[in-house]
Amino acid sequence: MNCLECDAQVPVPSDAIQGEIVTCKDCGTSFELVREQAGSLFTLRQAELEGEDWGE
Ligand SMILES: [Zn+2]
Repeated sequence: MNCLECDAQVPVPSDAIQGEIVTCKDCGTSFELVREQAGSLFTLRQAELEGEDWGE
């Protein structure tokens, strides 16, 4: 999976879950994993962490 900002490789764990946050090592941008429908591949959505409470 490639970073939306810099196109570097972003590692996605094989057991990744919907809503998991992954971070690009190159530019430091955080992305949320979004599965648009069951069984499909994840897509990356830029995470908006400012002032957000993710419940953890
Ligand atoms: Zn990047």
